[in-house]
Amino acid sequence: MEIFEKIESEVQSYARSFPCVFNRAKNEFLYDDAGNEYLDFLAGAGTLNYGHNNDAFKPALLHYIESDGISHGLDMHTKAKEEFLHALNDKILKPRDLNYVVQFTGPTGTNAVEAALKLARNVTGRENIISFTNGFHGVSLGSLATTGNSHHRGAAGTSLGGVSRLPFDGYLGDEVDTTEYLDKVLCDTSSGIDLPAAVLVETVQGEGGINAASFEWLKNLEKVCRKHDVLLIVDDIQAGCGRTGSFFSFEGADIKPDMITMSKSLSGYGLPFAVVMIRPDLDQWKPGEHNGTFRGNNLAFITAKAAIDTFWSDNQFAQEIQAKGEYISKRLEAIVEQYGEGNFTTRGRGMFQGINCVSGELAAQITQKCFKNGLIIETSGADGQVVKFLCPLTIKQENLEKGIDIVESAIKEVCAKEDEIPEDNCYFDTVYLQEAS
Ligand SMILES: *Cc1c(COP(=O)(O)O)cnc(C)c1O
Repeated sequence: MEIFEKIESEVQSYARSFPCVFNRAKNEFLYDDAGNEYLDFLAGAGTLNYGHNNDAFKPALLHYIESDGISHGLDMHTKAKEEFLHALNDKILKPRDLNYVVQFTGPTGTNAVEAALKLARNVTGRENIISFTNGFHGVSLGSLATTGNSHHRGAAGTSLGGVSRLPFDGYLGDEVDTTEYLDKVLCDTSSGIDLPAAVLVETVQGEGGINAASFEWLKNLEKVCRKHDVLLIVDDIQAGCGRTGSFFSFEGADIKPDMITMSKSLSGYGLPFAVVMIRPDLDQWKPGEHNGTFRGNNLAFITAKAAIDTFWSDNQFAQEIQAKGEYISKRLEAIVEQYGEGNFTTRGRGMFQGINCVSGELAAQITQKCFKNGLIIETSGADGQVVKFLCPLTIKQENLEKGIDIVESAIKEVCAKEDEIPEDNCYFDTVYLQEAS
């Protein structure tokens, strides 16, 4: 442990929440070097939708390495890339009547977002990008400019321009459709919002607190984009790859984004991998204009193809996710009703759900208690006020139940303890003030 304090940077974050040394993982479990078992409801922040070291993909990866398959090939054509593209086209795009070309960017989500923003600006000749309150799109400067969170933005040390932020679905309450506001400011040449190249949106905001946009809002958003000839980019980096109950998170809204960014669970195995899917006529890149040494990770091609073949050749996996999602909804609603004292609310879609505990302090107490009881679970939202349920989609039902049980007893304990705190405690003020506003 000592070495981490001695020479690893202060920038560490998840490591602070879960202070132990992990050295093995299988499916929905992590193990530390003392042999303790932890149920993983963080799943690499949505990178391990198929769990750790999934046996459905591991042999393919081992075989590829064993037979001296290409590990690194810049962006050269490889057999592994060819087979991944076939799987993606035949099993994901064509059955959904989607037609995109694929750009392999550097292997992080933020690089895919950078590429999408650059292309949108270059194709339209406009600079402005619309992104939304509480949106998270990565921390390199271009993406960071579209990210809402002031903690992350504050680290830039330079101005973050070229972006206008608008209220996400629900930001002004359930009654207000914020796409009407978007339409209005784009109609008004004196609104102060320059006609944008693109609108960049998460269908369910992951880091921003599991805020799910309604399908109706997404449909309206697409309409406003079409009306003003503005590109629609869906950042499906966290919500994609089945998390919300379909491969792409926007399928239920029946929209066709002009570009889609994907990363996190795309490789299936936790390997770094990111792409932008681009409407073919927008693919106006000149060769090498957006490059990078690690464009397309050949090991990831192998496991990404295996993930598509294993889980997305038919509709069965999507149905399993939806069924588990309904179970999660029911359990979380019951927990909120029983212990939330009218303050807590549930949020999310599919297996992308959370409990809003209103107070970040309270949410942290809950997740810390969970960790003591063998469950790894994190918070999200501006103040870390949302306990975020992000277990592998492949989790066994009994372990899903077990994990939620652990959260339930943590909430029960923490909320019971809070009752003993005198009412002039400032923590209570915060809760009630936010509740009242
Ligand atoms: C994680 C995430 C990113 C950034 O991906 P990195 O690999 O961390 O750069 C971008 N957008 C969304 C929606 C994300 O969840």
